[in-house]
Amino acid sequence: MLEAGIRQTAMKIGRLASGIAESPTLVLNEEARCLREQGEAIIHLGIGEPKNKTPINAILASAAKLTSGEVKYAPVDGVLSLKKAIIHYTEESYDRLVEPENVIVTNGAKQSLFNILYSILNNQDEVIVLAPYWVSYPEIIKMCMGRPVIVTPEDGTFIPRLEDVEKALTSYTRAIIVNSPNNPSGAIYPPKLIGSLVELCERRGLFLICDDIYQKLTFDQNRAAPATEFMHKEIEDSSIILVNGVAKIYGMTGFRVGWVVAPRALVRVMANVTAQTTSGVSTVSQAAAEGALNGLQSVVEAIRLQIQNNRDVLLQEMAALRGVRLVPPDGTFYALPDFRAFMPDSEELARFLLRKALVVTVPGREFGAEGHLRLSFSGTAREVKEGIARIRWALDATSPNEIYIGERRMVRDWM
Ligand code: PLP
Repeated sequence: MLEAGIRQTAMKIGRLASGIAESPTLVLNEEARCLREQGEAIIHLGIGEPKNKTPINAILASAAKLTSGEVKYAPVDGVLSLKKAIIHYTEESYDRLVEPENVIVTNGAKQSLFNILYSILNNQDEVIVLAPYWVSYPEIIKMCMGRPVIVTPEDGTFIPRLEDVEKALTSYTRAIIVNSPNNPSGAIYPPKLIGSLVELCERRGLFLICDDIYQKLTFDQNRAAPATEFMHKEIEDSSIILVNGVAKIYGMTGFRVGWVVAPRALVRVMANVTAQTTSGVSTVSQAAAEGALNGLQSVVEAIRLQIQNNRDVLLQEMAALRGVRLVPPDGTFYALPDFRAFMPDSEELARFLLRKALVVTVPGREFGAEGHLRLSFSGTAREVKEGIARIRWALDATSPNEIYIGERRMVRDWM
């Protein structure tokens, strides 16, 4: 009886929700989790989060909030003192002065993106997504009844071409999403391209959604030029929307705090959306974010340096893997090597590497980059080094055919 009820309920799942893609990554992660529970020495090059402990100022601020015993509903758009810290961040990072009414705090940058798109899209409106792209963009657009229009660089690079973006514009185009430094490629878009996209959006009255979550995680002398450098208007009068959060730059993924800086009319609508869905972000998390933003910023530099070192380890190890084309990442903690010389189907390759070499990677197909794998180097340098050594052993016939994985001696017997 109960089972029949469940079956019937399952049949009633709506079209919108059932159209949202299941993530193959979750399936691979689940398989990896089971293998790890069985004692297998899994190396995870799939997850994108820095290994650092929560910054001390964030711990102290959130602990103080907790011990006050006053943990109640938060203002829907964010606690004012956190908004002030965000205003300071915006001034420092974008050279723009905004008002508290231009800021809304959300449950991670993910909710920022959802609420923006929910607030600006009408049925069938189109949003331009630049490939390779973060997996969630197309799905969130679809959840908001819009249509993702993917623009892929034809020359095989990770830098979109303005001509291709212009060609993709229609009367339904409402917004362009830009993510530089980019997940999954680690590319930083040239300032000229950012400037052209700002100009295009200002001219055509389109929203430019800047997902700047990796803004501070850049390597060597590279810097990601923010859209604000090219804006002719103030944020209040423009259609440029800035998205940020504490997840990546402070390694505070679990606190779930992101924010949007945008014209106040949009912020007001987003606040209504938040009020009717999740309500304001937990005040404990908001206190932590405020602590991080107002605390010592050397923590960001420490994370950046550790990740840059991991990037160097990755480049060194990958250099020995012949046949794989790798564009060195200039930021984030991801690389997107092209493995087509070994296997064109990235899902099959990721499954193969998990089963043979116990390494978790993410198939490029999820990011609009079939034939590639996304490798995260946000873990330890040892994990990066060993993970790539295992990939080399599994794929490269010229590498020694024996390897130790954990305590076990493994022999390659498939080529
Ligand atoms: N935007 C990009 C490009 C990301 O890679 C991620 C997380 O992986 C997010 C947004 C979401 O960040 P948050 O954890 O703050 O929701």
